[in-house]
Amino acid sequence: MKLLLATRNPGKLAELERILREELGSASGVEVVGLADVPEYPEAPETGATFAENALAKARDAVAATGLPAVADDSGLAVDALNGMPGVLSARWVGRHGDDQGNLDLVLGQLADTPDERRGAAFVCAAVLVVPGGKETVARGEWRGRLIREPRGTNGFGYDPIFVPDGGQRTSAELSAEEKDAASHRGRAFRALLPALRGLAGS
Ligand code: IMP
Repeated sequence: MKLLLATRNPGKLAELERILREELGSASGVEVVGLADVPEYPEAPETGATFAENALAKARDAVAATGLPAVADDSGLAVDALNGMPGVLSARWVGRHGDDQGNLDLVLGQLADTPDERRGAAFVCAAVLVVPGGKETVARGEWRGRLIREPRGTNGFGYDPIFVPDGGQRTSAELSAEEKDAASHRGRAFRALLPALRGLAGS
């Protein structure tokens, strides 16, 4: 059966495919497709107050438009010293979409006077599965770390160059894709959906 991941990001598609293949095996009968593989439909702006609300809205729209079971995710950076912000505003913190460097520079400026011991942060991801007929499963993944003062590394995107995950010294922009998948908020949230996805494969 086809499972729609409501995203245009090929990296997220590859990650969900890898996790499903590892966990369910290639004989699971689940084929992951993305938004580029289904007829276009209007995508609502992300206006929810929480990651879960945004992910649910994306998945519900996807099910209504295509009739396929759909997974969607929403994620961002929650900075302790900013009371959990930028949070759901992570992608447009500087005031417009698509300016990763501007977003990162703004957070660094906001934390300029914050001492090292209060620079904790977490990447957070809500991943949801919505199936036609209405059953909804919400999963959450968190990846804790701290924010350094000078960006390092060229892998990844967004705030990766200033995020050092707990237990290591490298930023998430210095990790390989495999290392990041194994630990990241998105990997954890997708894996937490596995019991529900297994049910789907068996149905
Ligand atoms: P979205 O869930 O793809 O909409 O991501 C929202 C925003 O959160 C991105 O534009 C990034 O700024 C930030 N973000 C989410 N996940 C990551 C990550 O793994 N690394 C770096 N930034 C991230």
